[in-house]
Amino acid sequence: MIKIAMYWGAGCGGCDVSLLGLHEKILDLLNEAEIVFWPCAMDFKYEDLEKMEDKSIDVAFYNGGIRTEENEEIAKLLRKKAKILVAYGSCATEGCVIGLANLYDKKDIFETVYLKNETTKNDEKIVPKEETDDLKLPEFLPYLKTLEQVVEVDASIPGCPPPMPVLEDALNALLQGKTKFGKEVALCDECPRKDTKPDKIEISRFYRWHEKEDNGDCFLAQNMICMGPATRAGCGGECISANIPCTGCMGPVPKVRNQGTSMLSAIASLIGEEIDEETEKEIINSIEDFAGTFYKFSTAKLLPEGRLKDES
Ligand code: SF4
Ligand code: SF4
Ligand code: SF4
Repeated sequence: MIKIAMYWGAGCGGCDVSLLGLHEKILDLLNEAEIVFWPCAMDFKYEDLEKMEDKSIDVAFYNGGIRTEENEEIAKLLRKKAKILVAYGSCATEGCVIGLANLYDKKDIFETVYLKNETTKNDEKIVPKEETDDLKLPEFLPYLKTLEQVVEVDASIPGCPPPMPVLEDALNALLQGKTKFGKEVALCDECPRKDTKPDKIEISRFYRWHEKEDNGDCFLAQNMICMGPATRAGCGGECISANIPCTGCMGPVPKVRNQGTSMLSAIASLIGEEIDEETEKEIINSIEDFAGTFYKFSTAKLLPEGRLKDES
């Protein structure tokens, strides 16, 4: 019986829930594996983990990023206790959407969350209490880190959360002790719209997907940004099947580090060289939220030391 552990760091919880998305296949998993630590699903305490022999867990899955001292401590503990440590999902692997917070410092984030958030009414400016003798607040790190920025990682399962075909493939491999799995090609190769992907596009601006009626062709042919050319295959084009362009949650194709640059270069080759400077500027300016478009999932992984601004 293989011993497995699952931990939820700084993330939305979707990765924990994604395991349940295996439906009846989770019973097959439970036939082969014994869960020795999964605080989200069962009553495990950190001291249970501390008491385990080093390397006594066969596979430990860490989902979520590392934003608190507690997250960091458990990452190090799991590294010590597990033979194979797996970064599970985009937050653990690349930082994901929450990694975009690394573009700001802690003060900016605090004020945005509690005071300046457009959807929060807080006229009385109520914020969390100061720490007292009987109230301990979590110690936030200055920026979000990926698992690999804290400990050595043996394997990564990409996706936000990992799509079912990706998860099944990864679990099959990991339960046999294999740490290499997943497809080596870009999403366009398995996209249901791949036959309409153009070699060149005529363009004067990009549209966001809610700004234009979808005609069912490749989104890039319709001047909507789809991260498919720079994104690792495996999900089968889940979002595209729901008529939404890919935003790149599976991360870059293996051996490519920078998904955003890879996508910009794919766009440049589609547009070609016969374009004047003015049009080029208009096209670039039509892309709202540059970081959120091209670096939505990989900001924490790619910024030097995971952050843009020094804490001051
Ligand atoms: S990878 Fe996505 S689903 Fe998983 S914890 Fe992060 S935000 Fe949630
Ligand atoms: S760019 Fe997007 S829509 Fe077009 S083929 Fe690639 S994945 Fe499919
Ligand atoms: S289509 Fe893109 S964003 Fe959607 S699940 Fe697949 S890789 Fe992730």
